[in-house]
Amino acid sequence: MIPPRYRLTKFRNKVIAIDGPAGSGKSTTARIVAARLGYIYLDTGAMYRALTYFASTQGVEPSDGARLTALASGLSIEFETHEDINRVSINGQDVTNEIRSPEVTQQVSEVSAHKDVRKAMVAKQREIGRNGSIVAEGRDTTTVVFPDAHVKVYLEASVRARAQRRLIDLARMGVATSVEEQIAELQRRDAMDSGRKHSPLTKAKDAYVVDTTNCTIEEQVERVLSLLKTVLK
Ligand code: C5P
Repeated sequence: MIPPRYRLTKFRNKVIAIDGPAGSGKSTTARIVAARLGYIYLDTGAMYRALTYFASTQGVEPSDGARLTALASGLSIEFETHEDINRVSINGQDVTNEIRSPEVTQQVSEVSAHKDVRKAMVAKQREIGRNGSIVAEGRDTTTVVFPDAHVKVYLEASVRARAQRRLIDLARMGVATSVEEQIAELQRRDAMDSGRKHSPLTKAKDAYVVDTTNCTIEEQVERVLSLLKTVLK
């Protein structure tokens, strides 16, 4: 149920794009904000993860741009989103947990760096967002996928805070790791995502920057919602 204050015209059919590095709070914030606004939540990272997982089951290497692009074009990725979870299926198979495995996380930045893979994914993302009423999040939603988004947000947090969040997520999945190991993994992925040739992670000039280092989830959500209330017309 959409609370009455979000039924106002200014919240109708808007495109909200949120980018930032891994662990900055994008997914949780975007999912909850979308649920509160009655919007579609689009986790673009989950799409690259789904492709990475599917490719591994087909024996396609993360370096094989041509085969990955062919897989990406034919892949049907479905989302079933609630305020507390985003279930992801590919070609009808639920892969919500599989796409968060350390193996997928290790390979996804190489998969997502291929230009034509991105082209295929961006086309799917724009199709999902064609009627607005969407909160999209990822690395290039503010710059490439939805450059005309009504509100752009760039979430950031210290690498230690991000690593601590990852530790908690991974512990829930039964994966034992350490903060230092996660800091190294995040730095490796940040460098690949920000340093790549096609659609690197960058702060859009017109994005509002929100630092979530010391925020609880509810505080992050509140900051973004109050930003939307102020900025949307
Ligand atoms: O957000 P998440 O950590 O799930 O994203 C996984 C990976 O997918 C990122 O590290 C990045 O390589 C890729 N990605 C991307 N463009 C997006 C979203 C994610 O390249 N819009």
